[in-house]
Amino acid sequence: MPLDKKTLEELKQSLLKEQGDLEKSLGKIAKPVDKKTGDYDTTFENLGTDRNDNATEIEQYTDNLPVELTLEKNLQSVLEALKRIEKGTYGFCENCQKEIEVERLKANPSAETCVKCG
Ligand SMILES: [Zn+2]
Repeated sequence: MPLDKKTLEELKQSLLKEQGDLEKSLGKIAKPVDKKTGDYDTTFENLGTDRNDNATEIEQYTDNLPVELTLEKNLQSVLEALKRIEKGTYGFCENCQKEIEVERLKANPSAETCVKCG
């Protein structure tokens, strides 16, 4: 473990906070399919059944989809990072297996690679 306990705990707290924020934003435009893996489905309000209503729904869905996918991707990397903390493999570059710089982790606690590989 390249990180001392205090730093690791700080990073874990920011990951948990980020997880909460992402879940909140996702909850507005999507419904959770599997909370453990961070899998969400984009929802759209059922405004009505006539043709104009359906067009609005599709428009809304098309607007939300890329946002949802980005948030979902972020949430999944946060969850992955938390899993790595549990397993004790957190803080190592997925590419070269070297320690990830602490400064980089502080800026982005879910970073999976070191500065060189990222
Ligand atoms: Zn690396």
